[in-house]
Amino acid sequence: MIKTALLSVSDKTGVLELAQALHAHNVKLLSTGGTAKLLSDNGLPVVEVANHTGFPEMLDGRVKTLHPKIHGGLLARRDLPEHMAALAEHSIETIDMLVVNLYPFEATVAKADCTLEDAIENIDIGGPAMVRSAAKNWKDVVVLTDAAQYEQVLSELKASGDVSDSTKFACSVAAFNRIAQYDAAISNYLSTINPDTRDVATRAAFPEQHNANMVKVQDLRYGENSHQSAALYRDLYPAPGSLVTSVQLQGKELSYNNIADADAAWECVKSFDAPACVIIKHANPCGVAVGVNALEAYSKAFKTDSTSAFGGIIAFNVVCDAAAAEAVSKQFVEVLIAPDYTPEALAIFEAKKNVRVLKIDMSGVKKSGTNWEQGRNAQDVKRVGSGLLIQTSDNHFLKKEDLKIVTKIAPTDAQIDDMLFAWQVAQYVKSNAIVYCASGMTLGVGAGQMSRLDSAKIASIKAQAAGLSLAGSSVASDAFFPFRDGLDVVIDFGATCVIQPGGSMRDDEVIAAADERGIAMVFTGVRHFRH
Ligand code: 5GP
Repeated sequence: MIKTALLSVSDKTGVLELAQALHAHNVKLLSTGGTAKLLSDNGLPVVEVANHTGFPEMLDGRVKTLHPKIHGGLLARRDLPEHMAALAEHSIETIDMLVVNLYPFEATVAKADCTLEDAIENIDIGGPAMVRSAAKNWKDVVVLTDAAQYEQVLSELKASGDVSDSTKFACSVAAFNRIAQYDAAISNYLSTINPDTRDVATRAAFPEQHNANMVKVQDLRYGENSHQSAALYRDLYPAPGSLVTSVQLQGKELSYNNIADADAAWECVKSFDAPACVIIKHANPCGVAVGVNALEAYSKAFKTDSTSAFGGIIAFNVVCDAAAAEAVSKQFVEVLIAPDYTPEALAIFEAKKNVRVLKIDMSGVKKSGTNWEQGRNAQDVKRVGSGLLIQTSDNHFLKKEDLKIVTKIAPTDAQIDDMLFAWQVAQYVKSNAIVYCASGMTLGVGAGQMSRLDSAKIASIKAQAAGLSLAGSSVASDAFFPFRDGLDVVIDFGATCVIQPGGSMRDDEVIAAADERGIAMVFTGVRHFRH
């Protein structure tokens, strides 16, 4: 039997109707300042918590309900005579229903101009304390933490005059979930603030402390395969410019594989400063190019492997205009991603209803700067049998000055540009990765092989099959050549310069091979394994 309910809500949605219905069931209403005012202004008899406890709300509302008369009333077990005797001794009434939603911490810190002080004032103390008390004592107390729960409870009350154990238990679980989410939001926010300066403007300074506080975006039809179930989650505060901030402008629902590939395409394309286009198939780039505009970048990227590009995921780092849209719409494309589209470009895709067109707003993202500013993940997570592997993301970007020339022949400026381009692409290709490039476009990509030699052969054969000449090309290898054989293959096919990390036991042998064959080679000192 519900005799007394305490209502204390920041979000007052639906609470008046709930209180009216409770009143109609002869439930006594207790409430805090703002909520009590709303109810009494609407003609409901309500006892202010301050009158109930005989203790005023104080410290700007920091202390409202933190009183034994409240917590005793919530926590006492009705089945234990000692508990009930203790209540009687201290003149404490039981409270059978608690309706609380918390200070809007998440909404407050989501505002761009939120100060640390605003955030701290929006940490609810008494609300979560009551919710925990009520949720712990779920057999005797109904705890409602979300307006969406009101209807179910009211309909049970109407039907049977009480609330079922299964609903009470479900409400208790939901209450603890809400508290966990709320506390995670607080710790998540505070963890990103520099402890020395406490400057909110630079709260991205500690992204590595960013807790994995995730919210569900949507269930997906299925996972990688149709017998797997799946859902998409995102960070509570996604980095601007990240894939989960995308808006779908048209097309079929995104699938699990679409999202994974779109992320691979987007991460790769946005790493370039010049207008770039990336075409992805099964998580690997099958064409990447830079050009003077979107059209040129796409046309070059498409040439690399126009067979594999069929049904690909295509990403631009610049506005997709009509010329690029016209060219792209000639091929079968699953997903298109760009920071924006011209109206003419959108009109072209409208005729192709199935194409999923995603827009990712980059206006809040700096072109160069820290990884966080570029909207990259601070962490990379992989699931292993009943565990997680967590690492900082592979956000290393090579500069010209980092290159170490190891051969007698030095690369030309044009070759250095091509090698840096090839290296940047190789970072987004599954290991073992071998990438041929020339003039800002990929010529052949060898991906995901168990031997580097096989990747070198596959990249070469694919370039030949596409009718592309490898004479004078540049090659990037994501990790060192363990033997000279892989290097010999790419030279046989026409490469004249190679970029690779170095660091093999046989570096001497590999450098000697490069010198013997008369090519230039540079070491980066970093590798880009990607599994
Ligand atoms: P009202 O608008 O009714 O004045 O305040 C409702 C809000 O106060 C709810 O979000 C509730 O969680 C919160 N609240 C209730 N008791 C306390 C308390 O003792 N301390 C603090 N800081 N918040 C409380």
